[in-house]
Amino acid sequence: MASSAPPQWPPEVTDEQREALTLLATTYALSHGLVYLPPTDGAQPPAPTAVIHAPLALFPSPFPRRQFELARSLQSHYNGMYARIAMAEDFLDAVMGAEVGVGRVDEFTGQLWKIWKRLRSEGITQLRHLGLFRSDYLLHTPEEGGAPQLKQVEFNTISSSFGALSQNVAQLHRHLLAKTEYYNSSPVLKLENMPPNDTIAGLAEGLAAAHKEYGSPSAWILFVVQNGERNVFDQRWLEYELLEKHSIRVVRQTFEQLAVSAQVVPTSRILRLKLPGQLPRGAESVEISTVYFRAGYTPNDYPTPAHYETRYLLESTVATKCPSVQLQLAGGKKVQQVLTQHIHYERFVCPPARAASGHPVCQSWMGMWGLDENGDQGVQKARQQAQNLVLKPQREGGGNNVYKGDIPAFLDTLPREEREAWIAMELIRTPEGLGNYLVRAGGGTEGAVKTEVVSELGIFGWALFGGSDRAILEKEVGWLLRTKGKDSNEGGIAAGFSVLDSVVLYD
Ligand code: ADP
Ligand code: MG
Repeated sequence: MASSAPPQWPPEVTDEQREALTLLATTYALSHGLVYLPPTDGAQPPAPTAVIHAPLALFPSPFPRRQFELARSLQSHYNGMYARIAMAEDFLDAVMGAEVGVGRVDEFTGQLWKIWKRLRSEGITQLRHLGLFRSDYLLHTPEEGGAPQLKQVEFNTISSSFGALSQNVAQLHRHLLAKTEYYNSSPVLKLENMPPNDTIAGLAEGLAAAHKEYGSPSAWILFVVQNGERNVFDQRWLEYELLEKHSIRVVRQTFEQLAVSAQVVPTSRILRLKLPGQLPRGAESVEISTVYFRAGYTPNDYPTPAHYETRYLLESTVATKCPSVQLQLAGGKKVQQVLTQHIHYERFVCPPARAASGHPVCQSWMGMWGLDENGDQGVQKARQQAQNLVLKPQREGGGNNVYKGDIPAFLDTLPREEREAWIAMELIRTPEGLGNYLVRAGGGTEGAVKTEVVSELGIFGWALFGGSDRAILEKEVGWLLRTKGKDSNEGGIAAGFSVLDSVVLYD
């Protein structure tokens, strides 16, 4: 059954109604922690005194119900698949390693892989791994016409952000509906078309499961965070949930702080943080059950060898890492590309005997290849098809890709030996003609800017896996919609390109 055309969007409202909605939206956002720290010239003050609302969409954006449900149903497959990849040493060595894989030519990938290699040579293996994942999708309009298809942009295994804020923005849109009925501007704007989003509870449940499995109830969870992070509230919501619902305490530390505070107890390899004067009951140090990385996904987080040393130290402990270094490597763009090859997806996509090209997981992939493929063929193909492609290096966090017309000149300057670090991916052709009002802090009540948009859906899930039985516990836990102006290629919100949004489903 084909989906019908999406509704006209945004629905028509008067200037007064739009201004009223904007005032309601920004005040609700500020009242409910849908906020960032404001930009500063230098460091953030030690204790913040002000926030700005997160960039947001005034209306939820229409999304076809069947594709939304498909994305959610794929998550369990992806959770299991990436858990299996993280446990497949031979595969990760071959694809991401620094002896035969991408780690030879990509310095950052190589550094991470060497940490893992060093641990293995010392006989240290992870007891268990935790992944808090987010699988990102765009809708693709097939050239031959027909209903839009769900296509994966990327799969995140580290620092998957906006889980908490996505829940808050879904609640914001429900609030606007409850308060104004959106002035009856569209028949699709009904509560039954706005699915619940309980990502905060879901992600915290993953962390709590890892904590419980570790088996030391009084231990704490460590959040490894970036200096100057502005998206702190997205993290704080998880911290509050862990304390209130699970009675688990969280400590936030940067790599610099950990270089001083982290200690590994000899023989047991228990991770303890020395925090004199900062712990209840005069304790000097605290045991850590789980290390949750909201930093460490970019080389900028490791400005000196000492930073890598701190990562190594954390990895060498019995605390459960979210993610372990090998699970971080599993999330590489190169892995995503290699998986599209038959021999590999047969191994990982689902329990082996049932893998087939017709599997819905495989149907969610665009065509991809490595630029180093078959001598010069990978690059030649990229030149020929440039207008239909995006090139991606082994990086996370936005702003690293090369698109369409920029590709030929980029290929002219790319040294041959660096080709291996890049993948080519067919462009997802997003549906046209949808708009929304995007509201950014500082824009005032007239600051809702109407623009044509593209929306990227993210599905959150977690997996706790490993141990002697290599068992995998996993769950799909919620969703995120990020909406950006049609002319912006990149999807990162914190980088200022897109806004937080939620879905209104249509059939
Ligand atoms: P990052 O790790 O930097 O987030 P992504 O793979 O998510 O890298 O790419 C960043 C953004 O580029 C995406 O959010 C999306 O907007 C756009 N993008 C990535 N791949 C494609 C694609 N195949 N087709 C269209 N747009 C894409
Ligand atoms: Mg992305």
